[in-house]
Amino acid sequence: MIIPVRCFSCGKVIGSDYVRFVEESKKIRKDTGHDPTGKEKSEILDNLGVDRYCCRRMILSNADLLDEVISYS
Ligand SMILES: [Zn+2]
Repeated sequence: MIIPVRCFSCGKVIGSDYVRFVEESKKIRKDTGHDPTGKEKSEILDNLGVDRYCCRRMILSNADLLDEVISYS
């Protein structure tokens, strides 16, 4: 729902990287008209310095549902 601040496995701070990942993904979506491919997502994470696969899975597997859930509170 909300991206955890730190990686569950290694403890690296990834909360700020997730925000930049979403911004870059939106930029690609706007420029190309399609969702970022796996290779493009990989390049974004490489550029952000997210090298470990435990941290990459935290960012890639997060489902951002807060805006949908908040209307029910
Ligand atoms: Zn990690």
